[in-house]
Amino acid sequence: MRERQVSEARRGLVNLRRLMRVDRWLYPPVCLICGLAGRPGLDCCEACESELERVEAACYRCGLEGVRSVNLCGRCTTRLPAFDETHSAFAYRGPIEGMVQRFKFGGDLAAGRVLAQLMARRAAREAWRRPQLMVPVPLHRHRRWQRGFNQSEMICRDLSQALSRLPWAPALRRARSTPAQSELPAERRRGNVRGAFSLQRLPPGARHVALVDDVMTTGSTLDECARVLKRAGVVCVDVWIVARA
Ligand SMILES: [Zn+2]
Ligand SMILES: [Zn+2]
Repeated sequence: MRERQVSEARRGLVNLRRLMRVDRWLYPPVCLICGLAGRPGLDCCEACESELERVEAACYRCGLEGVRSVNLCGRCTTRLPAFDETHSAFAYRGPIEGMVQRFKFGGDLAAGRVLAQLMARRAAREAWRRPQLMVPVPLHRHRRWQRGFNQSEMICRDLSQALSRLPWAPALRRARSTPAQSELPAERRRGNVRGAFSLQRLPPGARHVALVDDVMTTGSTLDECARVLKRAGVVCVDVWIVARA
């Protein structure tokens, strides 16, 4: 119990440091994975970053791992998703899974920031094609209120900062509340989000958009979001995710 209180207090301090933006000179960066020294402006050490696993032999369209010989998975061959390409920074396992959980369910904003920074580094190294606009996957206002923040929006904000102010806008909204996708079997996820999103406001001239989210599992949510954007006249929709499950 005491340990839990200490870790919560520590997390609070980390979040406060982040919000106050004074940590650069008051506290040296600490690797959030191993606890050793981080690097300037990045709470992750070189050794830990180099060990993070990425998705191997991915389907270019949906990012599914382990597609041998062809670059399109069986599911995409049968039915193409509304988005055009998927770029995932990491595979959803190991320390990445732990950090996503800390961020999303533990409210650890420092973990979220590191995830976005690591993602930006991957995007730069692998030259992910640059969209004109990033759009976060929206949360229903009830869920947002419960959590206190929308994790996709936080990632967009940090990505934008790390990628020379690449523009982002909350162009979509969740029109109705749906059960969390993670609580449903794969075959029910598509129906669960159908019609759940609508357009809020799309900045003029956004023809190439990247939808940003933390984790992609079946891709039903992102597919539905991409459909709404394309109906609104967006020509090309890519998916940028921290991790592919
Ligand atoms: Zn480390
Ligand atoms: Zn695929």
